[in-house]
Amino acid sequence: MEIEILSLFPEYFRGPFDVSMLKRAIDAGLITIRHTNIRDFAENKHGRVDDRPFGGGPGMVLCPGPVARAIRSCRRNESKVIFLSPQGSKLTASKCEELATEKHLILLCGHYEGVDQRVLDAEIDEEISIGDYVLTNGCVAAIVLIDAMVRFIPGVIGHPEAVQEDSFQEGIFDSPHYTRPEIFEGMKVPEVLLGGHHAEIEKWRKAKAKEKTRRVRPDLLLGEKL
Ligand code: SAM
Repeated sequence: MEIEILSLFPEYFRGPFDVSMLKRAIDAGLITIRHTNIRDFAENKHGRVDDRPFGGGPGMVLCPGPVARAIRSCRRNESKVIFLSPQGSKLTASKCEELATEKHLILLCGHYEGVDQRVLDAEIDEEISIGDYVLTNGCVAAIVLIDAMVRFIPGVIGHPEAVQEDSFQEGIFDSPHYTRPEIFEGMKVPEVLLGGHHAEIEKWRKAKAKEKTRRVRPDLLLGEKL
């Protein structure tokens, strides 16, 4: 998969893509990430890409011209153009799984008060939010989307079955995990996990996962028998 990130701060992305699984996925050629600075598409020599909002109000708005040119500089027939926005549909595990099948993603990160609506109307295929809160800009949201999505690209996670056991895959949370030592500060690992009885372990894990989901996120269980 190829991913183009359009933002005002390509330097924001130093770090997250240089470590751990994302780095390995990039090094293995499973994903390619490119950065485009929207400022490179400014119409003036000062590199200014924002202006005051028509109708008044606080803050600045990203101008349509530079954003449209930045998108068009990398858009192809197979591209899916996503605007990270608090007004988008909420990012979920199933959306990540769906996006992981795309060939070419263009992620537009907003800044300031937002982006001129006309370029959004003309160029954006989908608006995605990472949650009901407002970030200062879309860069963190782009990192979250990429990180959550690449886990569904075959080869990125060493044990693909682990992804299937993760929270949300079966509509509930993952079960609790334990490792050595068997006793930590007086707390023992649940006996069932030490017995080697796989069916019992599976039953216990499912029950624990459901119990926590019911307690913390009962909305996930709606439609299922509680
Ligand atoms: N005035 C906008 C509103 O209330 O809808 C918020 C603008 S926000 C300060 C600047 C940029 O951050 C947005 O254009 C968007 O790209 C990004 N952003 C903020 N919150 C986000 C969220 N929850 N999910 C995805 N992107 C977000």
